[in-house]
Amino acid sequence: ITPVRPHRNVDMTHSSFPLNLVTRTQWGAIAPRHKDCLKSSAERVVIHHTAMRNCKSNTDFLVGQDGTVYEGRGWGVVGAHTKGHNADSLGIALMGNFDCNPSSEALMSVKQLLKAGVSQGFLFPQFVLFGHRDLGNTKCPGAKLYAALPQLRSAK
Ligand SMILES: [Zn+2]
Repeated sequence: ITPVRPHRNVDMTHSSFPLNLVTRTQWGAIAPRHKDCLKSSAERVVIHHTAMRNCKSNTDFLVGQDGTVYEGRGWGVVGAHTKGHNADSLGIALMGNFDCNPSSEALMSVKQLLKAGVSQGFLFPQFVLFGHRDLGNTKCPGAKLYAALPQLRSAK
């Protein structure tokens, strides 16, 4: 499998968005055994919460309630988060159960991540943002986070 572009970390040092990103190396992740690259920029973003076991470990990014972003599979890598929708989408999971309200810090970090993705060419500027429940039979990403998705869509 030939990557379309080198897999790289987000360089936030020159960004106007102070995103607190912890890379895989920084949090000591073991390199994924199998890594397929997206064929082009992602056209869709799928939002998850970690209350659902299946959504926890295979997303591209995890976002903590304090706004810290943890790199999962990373930009441009096919995740395994939404059955039938992994090949052209970026998966982001907020850490927690969002039948309760997500923090404004977490929502802000997701917005910043989306902007960074667009500005670096990993996401189409016209990307479409879904909640996992839009695409599968699941309660993910929780009622309150699902209700907050319009705020994230307006981040474009
Ligand atoms: Zn999910």
